[in-house]
Amino acid sequence: MTNIVVVGGGAGGMELLGKIGKKLGKNGKANITLVDISAYHIWKPLLHELAVGSLDEGLNAVDYRAHASKNGYKFEQGALTGVDRSNRKIILASMKDKNGVEILPERYIDYDYLVLGIGAITNDFGIPGVREHCEFLDLTEQAMTMRQKILNRFLQHAKKPDQGYFDITIVGAGATGTEMAAEMHHVADTLSGYGYEIAKDLLRINLIEASDRVMPSLKKECLYEAVDKQLRALGVNIMTNTIITEVTAEGMYTKEEWFIKSDMMIWAAGVKGPDILGTLDLEVNTMNRLIVHANCQSTTDERIFSFGDCAACPQPDGSYTPPRGQTARQMALLVGDNLIRLLKDKDAKLKDYLYKDLGGFVNMSKFYTVGNMFSFLGGGVAIKGCPARFVYASLYRRHILTIHGPIKGLLLLALNGVQSRLRPQLKLW
Ligand SMILES: Cc1cc2nc3c(=O)[nH]c(=O)nc-3n(C[C@H](O)[C@H](O)[C@H](O)COP(=O)(O)OP(=O)(O)OC[C@H]3O[C@@H](n4cnc5c(N)ncnc54)[C@H](O)[C@@H]3O)c2cc1C
Repeated sequence: MTNIVVVGGGAGGMELLGKIGKKLGKNGKANITLVDISAYHIWKPLLHELAVGSLDEGLNAVDYRAHASKNGYKFEQGALTGVDRSNRKIILASMKDKNGVEILPERYIDYDYLVLGIGAITNDFGIPGVREHCEFLDLTEQAMTMRQKILNRFLQHAKKPDQGYFDITIVGAGATGTEMAAEMHHVADTLSGYGYEIAKDLLRINLIEASDRVMPSLKKECLYEAVDKQLRALGVNIMTNTIITEVTAEGMYTKEEWFIKSDMMIWAAGVKGPDILGTLDLEVNTMNRLIVHANCQSTTDERIFSFGDCAACPQPDGSYTPPRGQTARQMALLVGDNLIRLLKDKDAKLKDYLYKDLGGFVNMSKFYTVGNMFSFLGGGVAIKGCPARFVYASLYRRHILTIHGPIKGLLLLALNGVQSRLRPQLKLW
């Protein structure tokens, strides 16, 4: 039987597995294996909510092994460290526990078709001190570690109010940075409600942006102006046209050699392909993303497909696909279609991927949401407030419905809705 190995069960990977698991795996047409570093899936656009405790992983995490058992594929936990292309095998690192004790040795998995969807990592642009001193939101584990640090810091302030301000610097005023700044205020408000005695002006957030405005990806002035206004109303200090040149344990230096003292630093200034991609002897671009043909096949090896943040797919206007949730979803589903075609006829003509910009949203926690819908239609329609929040929330609902199917998906969403009303607003451990 044909072996299909998918590495990366993220925003795109889970939707791909939902499709090929049902059409190929359950029908015995292919032997499908998912490989992921993590044991469970959380939709990455919600990682900042996980990092502050607004999102409860107990309610939202999808256990890969349980999902696999019901959806026509197998799951193998591990980190991809190499691909032996001549023997069509992938190599997984040995698995160790928290104390470094080996649980499983290095492993090999055979493939006939390999699909790489391992997402992106934060780009530190080689700036000294960023890797050592900043927090990143690339993996679920990083978000969980960040949550503990944030909550510990608030607890210290609640118990010892003379400790001064909690200075947070966030670099990058895109969706991750702006949403994170708003979430931090949500945490402070909620903890005050839980009896934490924290000063109203405890939080001092600097939001640093190299370009001349927040949300550079939003084209409409009314939208980025609304984000700017909301952040300023929360007291966020927005510093545009500011370039960071060095980070130390105490803060960061700008190009003009100003020092920004910080207790916590979050780096959200753009992404690049994970380092492993540059070691696989496959064509990558300067951002370390795998270059694929329009049909999502690697330009180096037609047995390898890639989608989402880790892939660069050429578009008719000469651009490459942007690293966004909707790109990952659309490309992953197209890879699914192409695999189904190839299994019917190995010489089948494959479909090409055409990026369709459906829009973008910024959800500033409970405070405000803005977005643009159907951007591919003459610039699209700007929406704000409750309608924007409804559409934003629908994107996650659609993801849940796609990966679980309509019945289980609706039941899970209903259960989640009830639980989120009964449980505390913040997860404090
Ligand atoms: C806080 C935040 C907010 C965001 N908000 C938005 C938004 O509003 N709109 C939007 O369009 N996009 C948003 N994004 C970007 C969006 O999340 C990504 O574009 C999308 O998740 C990419 O999907 P993917 O399937 O390519 O990769 P991912 O969803 O990142 O999945 C990659 C998977 O690969 C696994 N993996 C990584 N390395 C390895 C390895 N070596 N071996 C095995 N497994 C591996 C990971 O564990 C993960 O499960 C946001 C991102 C963040 C962090």
